[in-house]
Amino acid sequence: MRVTAVWSRQRPVMPTGRKPANIPNQRVWYCGNSRCLRMAKQVVTRTYKASIRNHRQVSDDLDSLGFAASKLWNVGRWMCDRIWDEIGHIPGHSELTSYLKNHERYDDLHSQSSQRVLQELAEAFSGWYGKRRNGDTRANPPGYRKHSDEHPRSTVTFKAAGFKLDTQYNRVRLSKGSNLKADWSDFILCEYQTRPDVDLSTVESVQQVRAVWTGDEWELHIVCKVEVEVSDSPGDKTVGIDLGINNFAALAYEDGHAELYPLNCLKQDDYYFSKQIARCDDSLSKQATRLNHTKSARRTHYFHALSKHIVERCVKEGVGTIVVGDLSGIREDDDTNEAKDWGKHGNLDLHSWAFDRFMDLLTYKAEIEGIEVKEVSERDTSKSCSCCGQTRDANRVERGLYVCDNCGTVANADVNGAENIRQKVTPSLACDGGDRSIGWLAQPSTYLFDKETGAFAPQEQVTSALLKSPSSDILSSETAGR
Ligand SMILES: [Zn+2]
Repeated sequence: MRVTAVWSRQRPVMPTGRKPANIPNQRVWYCGNSRCLRMAKQVVTRTYKASIRNHRQVSDDLDSLGFAASKLWNVGRWMCDRIWDEIGHIPGHSELTSYLKNHERYDDLHSQSSQRVLQELAEAFSGWYGKRRNGDTRANPPGYRKHSDEHPRSTVTFKAAGFKLDTQYNRVRLSKGSNLKADWSDFILCEYQTRPDVDLSTVESVQQVRAVWTGDEWELHIVCKVEVEVSDSPGDKTVGIDLGINNFAALAYEDGHAELYPLNCLKQDDYYFSKQIARCDDSLSKQATRLNHTKSARRTHYFHALSKHIVERCVKEGVGTIVVGDLSGIREDDDTNEAKDWGKHGNLDLHSWAFDRFMDLLTYKAEIEGIEVKEVSERDTSKSCSCCGQTRDANRVERGLYVCDNCGTVANADVNGAENIRQKVTPSLACDGGDRSIGWLAQPSTYLFDKETGAFAPQEQVTSALLKSPSSDILSSETAGR
């Protein structure tokens, strides 16, 4: 669906390689960085969340659609079992659709919405195969969406023909399936509200709208094509990033140096707030809500600052591609919805959403700088030696150090993982020519969050890291750009 494209907050576009001409009555700025002059426009996909202002009026209708999506999922799931029993094969998305398009439950939703449910089911099955192939024997196939007699509210996706967006009045019409059309109304009219800095009338096009149940209420996720200005890629080097819970990020650059981003500050912060919240008599009290809100705002700020810093480092180092290990090892088990027990690791209730959130922020910020973010499988990246490539059980991790019996490499374990991840895109032996002394991977530089500035800095420059209670400073979200 096409929306009038007016991009109002754009920076001036400079002709390649030339200084901007002096245009009278128009403020032209450039920052002196030569990359500023090499901007190009690029259309990227963004998802904006919106709350529903007339929630009370539409929640029953959205509930019906959410339940219907769960029912259709279950019908499809049952069908997969049956076909598997008959012919030993699990149907793909289009096969499943052709089997079920005449099923009664298919007409509970708009046909495109129903199609999307079956597509999600097929995707869940292929995700499961993928995990099995990677040797994850604990992975379970997608389950039924039912808790005793109750159906959960599944996400309902509306594609081009299934919604109509009115950006003038901030309304969106979501189509129902023919079975649920009643009282002459074949759509749900939602009044939406986006964040103040999001203006849907300026986006290139809106691809789809998803109604998502958050556990408390419905919200809308509006997937758009947006035109942004991107710089030329800063270079063609690669960096590998290993995300984890001891070091939130370990970076291995192509030229051999490495960086660590430990979570200490966030841990302290989290510990402090969790204690404060636990002291509240009532977990629903105003005070508890306020503390929860502050805690999450500080986390958000932390991840903004970290992703911003990493992208800045990449620009400086001429990195054109960031390679990140896929998060399947970190993500909670989708089927059981059981979060991994992060509590054991340093008392941080950091769930998979934090990694997803961080990846989103990193991707957005990198994209603008012309840097590509690639996800690769993390398979064996922690087990093999990034120096000689050997994977041996004898190779071990001791106190955070990876020790290779074959070549004698001693490396920080997370950095070794990051280097293996990087090599999945740019294969190169870390020890070639012997110009990298043994131990380079063992001595990465460490960057810490500086509460004084609200940004990341080398460990030795961060004075605020030295024991300071989080209550005594303000983490202002204004200090880090977004
Ligand atoms: Zn080795």
